Amino acid sequence: MYRILIIAPNWIGDAVMSQPFLAALKLNYPKAQIDVLATPWVAPIYRACPEIHSVIEAPLEHKKLQWALRKQLAQGLKAKSYQACYVLPNSFKSALIPWLANIPFRIGYRGEARFGLINFALNNPSKTERPPMVERYLALAHLLNNEGQAQNIGSPVPSLQSSAEITHTTQDKLARANIKPHALYIFCPGAEYGVTKRWPAEYFAELAKKILGQNIENQIILLGSQSDHHSGQIIAQQDPGRIHNWCGQTSLDEAMAVIGLSKTVISNDSGLMHIAAALKKSQIAIFGSSDPKHTPPLSNKAQIIWLNLPCSPCHRRECPLGHLNCLKEISPERVFNSITAE
Ligand code: SF4
Repeated sequence: MYRILIIAPNWIGDAVMSQPFLAALKLNYPKAQIDVLATPWVAPIYRACPEIHSVIEAPLEHKKLQWALRKQLAQGLKAKSYQACYVLPNSFKSALIPWLANIPFRIGYRGEARFGLINFALNNPSKTERPPMVERYLALAHLLNNEGQAQNIGSPVPSLQSSAEITHTTQDKLARANIKPHALYIFCPGAEYGVTKRWPAEYFAELAKKILGQNIENQIILLGSQSDHHSGQIIAQQDPGRIHNWCGQTSLDEAMAVIGLSKTVISNDSGLMHIAAALKKSQIAIFGSSDPKHTPPLSNKAQIIWLNLPCSPCHRRECPLGHLNCLKEISPERVFNSITAE
């Protein structure tokens, strides 16, 4: 059997945007077994991709070489006799494992000084080109094809499927808390990138007040990581009985199931935004310093709110002008009107 290994990216949003690439690979090689090597952080995304046979979790850490661990992982992979490996991150260290595992075809972008480690390479697009991430990954799927001919996978839009088992468990959990999915709004107030992607917690709190005032059944669950818990508390204090701060209290698998069951998701430009899009949920995506043309939520149920100020997109983690107007000038009323206009 033809076996293909994927080295996964490190960010949730990038992992979601690699799904159309996986679908294209499966079309090109329908009998191949496609496995993915992923950190525990992004592994749940690949468990929700039907194209993937197995997810190999590896405790690799961002910006650390972990040479002994990489050698040990490569040793384990040798026994599986992969014929090809697609390396999705651009870093030097991400290309080490398939090279150490003697996988014959190692495919990726040229990236950081990876001469020899990657032996089928595409040139990186220039920073000014910045193609959408989905297209960037898709281009790799066709590199080994007959003269790069792509099979048509239709519209390259990510699509995920939450596990039925976790969905049932989550349905029970919502029922016990008397939360009705048809009246459930999800807020995702975080963004790992930095404050320039985070709409202020006080604005989320004001939006919560409007949503809860609209219908007595409405409830809100806040999703995010432990570092978003404090923002979650600011929002939840509006109405602790109907706003549930689950930031840092769910696994990513469970967060995906809750999103899948909800009515509408309101988020920043974050990994959870891309998950909501791939689950085809109605959603509002709030953009600040980033560019929605580069990493939009790929769904016809998504509404993007972006002011496109003369200073944006600046792609900075802190506002160089000190005012953060790209986010602060988006009023809770404007977001609320977008929700009710659906
Ligand atoms: S410079 Fe403009 S786009 Fe960048 S963070 Fe500040 S307000 Fe936002």
